Amino acid sequence: MRLDAGNDFGDRAMAMFGEYEEMTVYRPGTTIPDTKAMVEKTAEHLAKGTPVICEAAFIYYNNYCAVDILRKTETGYDFYEVKNAPMVYDQFIRDAGFQYYIMNRCKLNIGKIFIVTHGEDEENPFVSNDVTVKAKGYAKWINDNIWDLNRMQKQPEEVQIEIGEQCTKPYECWYYGYCHHLSEVEVNE
Ligand code: SF4
Repeated sequence: MRLDAGNDFGDRAMAMFGEYEEMTVYRPGTTIPDTKAMVEKTAEHLAKGTPVICEAAFIYYNNYCAVDILRKTETGYDFYEVKNAPMVYDQFIRDAGFQYYIMNRCKLNIGKIFIVTHGEDEENPFVSNDVTVKAKGYAKWINDNIWDLNRMQKQPEEVQIEIGEQCTKPYECWYYGYCHHLSEVEVNE
């Protein structure tokens, strides 16, 4: 229910600035995003000068991100991340910091960064919160840590670590099922 409301809010927000082009592409017969195709489609629309690009996708050294709304400006682009939430949580800004880092490394000149939250006026529920300074402030931390993460991704042996709070905070980890299944196996042995 909450997920549908979130998707619905996100889908409505795509039209915040009028006409837009959406970059979402799914693998045939699935709802799994085809990230490579989305990155290519985004590059095409950037080259065309499309004013508003939704779900614009970028990849930098195997690090992928997609942004809800990328809006062309005189000097480059502003981007908007849409959250079906009444306020801006810190995690939203950290996520936007990662997206900024990736797009900046892909040579996009990003001006302003906004988190769009769900306001009380249902006639116009989209509230744009300017988080530019704080989000861009995370770029250095990301650059200091992302290469270690890349190395970990590539090393053949698995990182040995106990399951814990990190598995669900700030979001459920992609490997949750795998690691928690392993821990069940260990317990039953
Ligand atoms: S679920 Fe994710 S965070 Fe938790 S131990 Fe496994 S890889 Fe680490």
